[in-house]
Amino acid sequence: MTLIMDGNATAKAVQEKIAQDVEKLKAAGKRPGLAVVLVGEDPASKVYVGRKKKACETLGFYSEEYKLPADTKEADLLALVETLNRKQEIHGILVQFPLPTGLNPQKVIETINPEKDVDGMNPTSLGKLISGLPGLRSCTPAGVMVMLEHYGISVAGKEAVVIGRSIMVGKPMAQLLVEANATVTICHSKTKNIGEVIHRADIVVAAIGKPKFVTADMVKDGAVVVDVGINRTAEGKLVGDVDYEAIAPKASAITPVPGGVGPMTIALLMKNTFQAFLNQSGL
Ligand code: NAP
Repeated sequence: MTLIMDGNATAKAVQEKIAQDVEKLKAAGKRPGLAVVLVGEDPASKVYVGRKKKACETLGFYSEEYKLPADTKEADLLALVETLNRKQEIHGILVQFPLPTGLNPQKVIETINPEKDVDGMNPTSLGKLISGLPGLRSCTPAGVMVMLEHYGISVAGKEAVVIGRSIMVGKPMAQLLVEANATVTICHSKTKNIGEVIHRADIVVAAIGKPKFVTADMVKDGAVVVDVGINRTAEGKLVGDVDYEAIAPKASAITPVPGGVGPMTIALLMKNTFQAFLNQSGL
């Protein structure tokens, strides 16, 4: 029987633990604060920002939301980030990506104070990840690791293949798997014979952004399949990067889309914000 890894249930467990910890600190008049910045009108981004705001409310976090027009000047966005860097009540800053054309995401990432980099994409955070030092890890890959752990799936000694090498998902995912003692291969658009490479994997993580890219013939029997992809079909349905219906019967465990990695990303954002709050409060 294939194990369906339920991201909603796992995220709930993570968030319940955070809510208990927040409750304990309430008496001392302290609470974590997250600022979320949305630039432009991207419909998916609006949904994600709404979910992040709701998670803050549920967990008793303080939150601030900034909605800026798509034609916002880069200097103005950077100035807002600088202001948030200085705000005492804000412990985490999340600028929702993608940004409208003309705004340089890397500049924004580098302007966020690494202490408040709850998305884990600042070069300081990534450097700490590579160095094996404690730090804020990118939410989506960290969420995948928490989900594997939640379901008792051991990673050590396993052959893992990560498809995708973005700074947000693929690269930190591969590094987290290496830290957990997997043997890791990263595939990308220039990888030759990608199906053969994926077929070696005990654990497959797909982060490509192409519906049904990973087909059943690419996956070996009994593999663990984690689908990070979020794609919208012409009919408006949300699908991942793997052919779920065909792969689920042969996998030992698999994440659905929706309801898999997505909720974990938000849970880990909350976990990172709580950690950033503890770090900044000296707790
Ligand atoms: P990205 O920055 O566009 O990166 C996509 C990666 O896929 C690149 O490394 C690219 O290779 C690789 N790729 C593209 N076409 C390929 C092909 N034909 N063969 C092999 N590799 C190929 O995307 P991302 O930000 O990492 O996101 C990936 C997916 O995850 C998207 O669907 C996104 O919506 C989703 N996502 C989900 C969550 C969540 O919470 N569930 C969070 C973040 C992202 P090159 O480097 O060679 O171009």
